[in-house]
Amino acid sequence: MAAQEMARAGLAVTIFDRMPSPARKFLLAGRGGLNLTHTEPLETFMTRYGTSAPQLHPMIEAFTPDMLRTWSEDLGEPTFAGSSGRVFPKSFKASPLLRALLRRLDDLGVRLFARHSFAGFDERGLPILLDAQQLRVTKHFDVHVFALGGASWPKLGSDARWCEWFSARGIVVHPFKPANCGFDVNWSEHFISRFAGAPLKNIGFAMGERHVRGEAMIAQTGVEGGAIYALSAPLRDEIAQAGFAMLHLDLHPDVEEAELARRLARPRNGQSMSSFLRKAAGLSPVEAALLREAQRDLPDEAQALAHLIKHLPLRLERVRPIARAISSAGGIAFDEVDAGLMLRQAPGLFVCGEMLDWEAPTGGYLLQACFATGFVAGQAAAHYAAGVGLLRQ
Ligand SMILES: Cc1cc2nc3c(=O)[nH]c(=O)nc-3n(C[C@H](O)[C@H](O)[C@H](O)COP(=O)(O)OP(=O)(O)OC[C@H]3O[C@@H](n4cnc5c(N)ncnc54)[C@H](O)[C@@H]3O)c2cc1C
Repeated sequence: MAAQEMARAGLAVTIFDRMPSPARKFLLAGRGGLNLTHTEPLETFMTRYGTSAPQLHPMIEAFTPDMLRTWSEDLGEPTFAGSSGRVFPKSFKASPLLRALLRRLDDLGVRLFARHSFAGFDERGLPILLDAQQLRVTKHFDVHVFALGGASWPKLGSDARWCEWFSARGIVVHPFKPANCGFDVNWSEHFISRFAGAPLKNIGFAMGERHVRGEAMIAQTGVEGGAIYALSAPLRDEIAQAGFAMLHLDLHPDVEEAELARRLARPRNGQSMSSFLRKAAGLSPVEAALLREAQRDLPDEAQALAHLIKHLPLRLERVRPIARAISSAGGIAFDEVDAGLMLRQAPGLFVCGEMLDWEAPTGGYLLQACFATGFVAGQAAAHYAAGVGLLRQ
């Protein structure tokens, strides 16, 4: 996005990416359908960025969710909004959009070099760029926009090594932490041998005062999935503070506890507990087994059983490694950049995307902020270049 804006403004642009091909994480995001953005009103939309909302607000206003949809459509990938408001390309894929963008960049004269990496700054403070043979690229560039990503899924390219080089220049880089990540649970062997991979659908999840309704999945080592990701920031911070975090599940969010107790008060007539729970309370086998994971001897009394179903405690032991998280929290502090995302200490160097210190839940907020900050950084880099007389024409 930054390259597009710079090239449209008339700059001769070269992209370097350390991987054999670009945008691998974007392509992986496409496997889940590529949730590009969200249709909710901007006011609500901005709340998803938590404490970084004030800094990101002007960026998202400069490149709004509607503009992102139009951009995708102009590249031959019209979008649609699902019932939740999440926006996807109709193709549900990232690859056609990426191909179209690369074609557009090529038409704009942008050159792309794969297997070329940024490897720190030289004594003049200029980026060191290495080619595929690890030889220094000697060409001089007048402005630089860094879009090196955060720290999740390093094997796709964003290994966050840049933190060390930026920190060494005195730029404040907050340590990366997993965001939108799974958590470890000490499942019993019996439970996990039967239910690894099982989905939990339409469940209420609560952490303190925060409530989320949605889906999750039983993973070999714990839990993951959309509803867990939505609570992952407070859960992660709680584990950092207390050494563990308690999540409470409502296995039957559509039925009041009193009504559930009434249904569970009927005689069992010799049924096994799990078939009774299925028939009387509509619990799936994995949900019934989760009850037993929490409390080996289930209460006989209907009211107590209903309460457990509505407030099932799940102890989360650890955060899953950042290498498998959807995104990361942390990065370059917003104080380090101006309104155009240029580093205050290093005129001519711009940063965008997950390199910056913000976090957001899934729902299209991640890509929206990456595209918007890329858009702003690209335009600001072009203005900067124009200001110092570097335009090609
Ligand atoms: C499984 C998964 C699913 C996701 N699904 C969605 C979704 O549906 N919706 C959504 O909004 N977000 C989603 N995301 C998040 C989204 O993909 C990221 O937020 C986004 O890709 C970050 O963009 P970025 O440009 O900041 O960094 P990245 O996409 O990580 O790109 C950074 C680039 O910099 C290159 N690079 C890094 N270091 C160097 C170096 N030293 N030299 C040269 N090149 C370097 C890398 O090779 C890479 O190409 C998903 C993420 C994952 C992992």
